[in-house]
Amino acid sequence: MRVAVVAESLEGESRVALVPDGARKLVDLGYEVAIETGAGRAAEIDDEEYEDAGATLTDDPLPGATVVLSVQPLARDRIRQLHAGASLVSFLPTAQALDQVRDMRDCGLTAYSLELVPRISRAQSMDALSSQALVAGYRSAIVAAGMLRHFFPLNMTAAGTVPPAEVLVLGAGVAGLQAIATAKRLGAVVKGYDVRAAAAEEIASMGAQAIDLDLDSLEGAGGYAREMTEDRAERQRELLTPYIAAADALITTAAVPGRRAPMLVTRAMVEQMGSGSVVIDLAAESGGNVEGSVPGETVRIGAARVWGGRNVPSEMPLPASRLLSTNIVNLLTLMTGRGEDGAGFAPDHDDEVVAGCCVIFEGEVRHQPTRELLGGDRA
Ligand code: NAD
Repeated sequence: MRVAVVAESLEGESRVALVPDGARKLVDLGYEVAIETGAGRAAEIDDEEYEDAGATLTDDPLPGATVVLSVQPLARDRIRQLHAGASLVSFLPTAQALDQVRDMRDCGLTAYSLELVPRISRAQSMDALSSQALVAGYRSAIVAAGMLRHFFPLNMTAAGTVPPAEVLVLGAGVAGLQAIATAKRLGAVVKGYDVRAAAAEEIASMGAQAIDLDLDSLEGAGGYAREMTEDRAERQRELLTPYIAAADALITTAAVPGRRAPMLVTRAMVEQMGSGSVVIDLAAESGGNVEGSVPGETVRIGAARVWGGRNVPSEMPLPASRLLSTNIVNLLTLMTGRGEDGAGFAPDHDDEVVAGCCVIFEGEVRHQPTRELLGGDRA
């Protein structure tokens, strides 16, 4: 059975869905692995490394593929090349990729979305949202340190004392905690805030100060945050204002699953920051935590420079691809059955991980929110 790995075509996407080590594991599982020539180039992986791992290089890996791996949803012209029954594994934000979803359905394909892998303990090694959030969180602190024209750490020298930078991180999930840990390692004085009660302990365990605003915590299902009411949001913004005004660098990473990113920081709040300050909005692409941030751009608001994140994991393509590839190989391993005639792709849809991440099965849309998005269409 053939697993195909395509070269990404979306502008700015530098990752690859499978690295050579992952290709070797799939070959060992019994798959034939076909890699599109140059697929790893933007992630600094040469074609020869794939060949050494037992994969085949080809200009068109799709014919005859049982499973197609990509980071971004497969391009529409390539979806139409696949035979009915072929399976796709990729990130698949269905609201933004509705045309592709429709094509996948109409071509009778099966599509598994990495975003939908249930976040249960058994599936942690397949959790691509966490692995990529780790990269984005680290990167956000490094970008902040690079943009800030000051030291992060305290320096006591014969020429005087340089005070440490003050970094404030809003949202302390996977990305936020990694941003906190990285800024701490660079020597900044770090504070963090999150609406979940459990986050305070996690922030403190990184050696940072957890800000207590004396507001109700907003813990929802599965340990995620709930959406704020407008009153609660207003009060939170009011109480956070002095902390933001005092920060040299503000990093925002807040998200609520399935919702637009909450607006935590208004333009007026950023305008209170001092000269030379920087703001990193990791949520810029999903609506933005900071009013006025633009994905992929740095804009000036008051005295601050505001950096809006766009596909941030792709800025560190090799480590991001390695982690992603491991997540995908673990998912494919779960989907591989061992019959009498050897191993083969045989996902068990009674398994909650497989069922949970399946958006379309052989042309039938199984993910309810996607069915709703498709509206009056045949789902
Ligand atoms: P996320 O990306 O959905 O959100 C990031 C953070 O933003 C969260 O911590 C959330 O509480 C916070 N947030 C939301 N609204 C906010 C607001 N108005 N103000 C301040 N902060 C706000 O979250 P995530 O990083 O994917 O993970 C969140 C939780 O899920 C954590 O508890 C994490 O440990 C847990 N988790 C579990 C698993 C697993 O069991 N496999 C995997 C990953 C994460």
